[in-house]
Amino acid sequence: GVAISALHKAYGSNEVLKGISMTVDPGEVVCLVGASGSGKSTLLRCVNRLEEPNAGTITVADHVASDPDVDLDAMRREIGMVFQQFNLFPHLSVLENCTITPRRVLKQSKADADGEAMAQLRRVGLEELADRRPDQLSGGQQQRVAIARALTMRPRLMLFDEPTSALDPETVGDVLAIMRQLAEAGMTMIVVTHEMTFAREVADRVVFMDQGHVVEAGPAAQVIGNPQQPRTQDFLRRVL
Ligand code: ATP
Ligand code: MG
Repeated sequence: GVAISALHKAYGSNEVLKGISMTVDPGEVVCLVGASGSGKSTLLRCVNRLEEPNAGTITVADHVASDPDVDLDAMRREIGMVFQQFNLFPHLSVLENCTITPRRVLKQSKADADGEAMAQLRRVGLEELADRRPDQLSGGQQQRVAIARALTMRPRLMLFDEPTSALDPETVGDVLAIMRQLAEAGMTMIVVTHEMTFAREVADRVVFMDQGHVVEAGPAAQVIGNPQQPRTQDFLRRVL
């Protein structure tokens, strides 16, 4: 799981995270929601130390992510990250996109890496497109490749930062369906999303952030269905 305690992060004098505490138990799905600029991406980026916190602690499984001496490579091997932009390598095939990291980082043989990658591509319904280049796929298909690629590393935690925000509406559902499957298979996930139906149906808990604070957190049905805080009510009125 993940434990975040009193996390502070500033860019210069702009304090973006003002004492965030939250936990994600193993197998739990937490959706992080909130207005633009509230600090959601910064929080995710602190979890795998793409950003360095100013204060507070973060642990991810056995790793103390906030420790300056953390073994970043070992920690990041266990964390899969999927962004709004898929960041696939354009010159590599779908299959090669999924095998390059296991081969380089885990030193897997080509046969092992190909086998694992095909299994993950099957899981996201794209094994038939393994030989294509990313630009021959729809946005939704590319995002599913990005998810398969992350899964080939057998992560213990998956971080999603608005994975469907850049997609054509007709491909959003396929990506959400894969994420739902992953959740049902027991993956620990933190998902930043504006998809409130997904959050309500899939998240174990929803965390609402505003201006660097956690304003409200709890079971999805409670935070989305019956929010207690005026700022949460306001936000939901605007997005629902
Ligand atoms: P959105 O919904 O638009 O993605 P967000 O909740 O993810 O917003 P963040 O991207 O975490 O918000 O940004 C929070 C604040 O931190 C914003 O004011 C942003 O301008 C600032 N910020 C983010 N990244 C940086 C950076 N690398 N350098 C300086 N300021 C940054
Ligand atoms: Mg963001």
